[in-house]
Amino acid sequence: MKPFDIWVSFIVSLITNMIVLSGTIAFLFWLEELPNSWAKRVKPLIEIVLSTLYFVYLWGQSWLSSGIAANAFGFHWTFLNMIIVSMFLINVYLDIWLEVFIEAVLMLSYVLFFAPTFNIYTVIYYLAFTFMLVFCYHWGDLLLKHAALMYLSLGVMGFTAIALVSCLFGVSTDPYFWLRQITALILLSIVGIEYTLSSKRLLERNTQAAKMANRDGLTLLDNFSKFDKDLAKAHERFRIDRKPYAIFELDIDLFKQVNDNYGHLVGNTVLKAIAQELAQFAASLPYPANAYRIGGEEFCLIIHDDFSDDDVAFKVADQIRRRISQLSFTIGTSTINVTASVGQANSRLDHYNAHDVYKMADRSLYLSKQRGRNRVTLEGNTIVGMN
Ligand code: GH3
Ligand code: MG
Ligand code: MG
Repeated sequence: MKPFDIWVSFIVSLITNMIVLSGTIAFLFWLEELPNSWAKRVKPLIEIVLSTLYFVYLWGQSWLSSGIAANAFGFHWTFLNMIIVSMFLINVYLDIWLEVFIEAVLMLSYVLFFAPTFNIYTVIYYLAFTFMLVFCYHWGDLLLKHAALMYLSLGVMGFTAIALVSCLFGVSTDPYFWLRQITALILLSIVGIEYTLSSKRLLERNTQAAKMANRDGLTLLDNFSKFDKDLAKAHERFRIDRKPYAIFELDIDLFKQVNDNYGHLVGNTVLKAIAQELAQFAASLPYPANAYRIGGEEFCLIIHDDFSDDDVAFKVADQIRRRISQLSFTIGTSTINVTASVGQANSRLDHYNAHDVYKMADRSLYLSKQRGRNRVTLEGNTIVGMN
């Protein structure tokens, strides 16, 4: 091959490799975002199968190319770069032990298949390379946090792999060969590491944004939008499986006065404490329950159980009311206490949809307010609790 052809082939291979590497990384991150829970369960299996096929493809390409023009301009080496960078990234990111094992076996098969000058160094470099595979798997999370450590580890892994393949094929004396090899490895490392890190940042931002879309920023409780979705799901389950649920809605009494007397920041602190109390209460219940902030000083609990017995429903509703009234906040020399009015409604078959249950809870809450505040109304029947 003429020097010009070698350089053209090198550049074309390098560009192709960069595109294939970027496509592989993009595909792995696309798998991460699969919304379906079934797909999530089989994700590790898909990752193992596809990663293994990917390495078989890279080695297959290397083998085919070497058959066409063995070592003419380092066919093996071109693919070696891809194999080094891909194995490194897959172990650091995917965190699958079986994949580490498969890669070690693939590398061993490669060594045994192309072993014209098998010696003690081959064994040493193979073990060093395998150690780096395990190292990247084990310390993956740490490496992902520190880009410099990632580059360093990839450099060491690259060295062990190049040393290993040098053992098998002998070292090229052409200085341009090394220039091409090292340049290609550096460029592929930059593309692989930077693309992985930026995809990971993007994925984290998306996950965070999706979480925050369902969460109230002040109290960190789930917000109205999540309440609406959960309510629709609960009602669907009730319609199909007859699993009952109940809504306990509460509104803080005369909360405007807290803001007027102590300022909005104190008001916010009170709302946060109420939210925390409700979250703890929901977690302490023997049935699945969740607390939501559905409006300014309005909160809701969806509790998945049968509350058609008024005594049972009252016990829970009045506990909510009492827990709020027992909260106390000291601001300077004064103490703030708040009370809440509670409205409750049960899932019923004659309710056409979830919003009808919610409307019923709202109506009960309104009656609690109208009948004097700091009390509980169960499906339209107001019961006054003690203290
Ligand atoms: P009622 O017993 O009839 O419910 O009286 P209320 O004063 O609680 O009701 P009103 O609807 O008149 O006022 C609600 C107040 O809640 C007014 C609003 O400033 C306050 N509020 C709503 N959201 C927030 C918030 O995020 N922070 C603070 N500090 N106050 C809030
Ligand atoms: Mg209020
Ligand atoms: Mg209100």
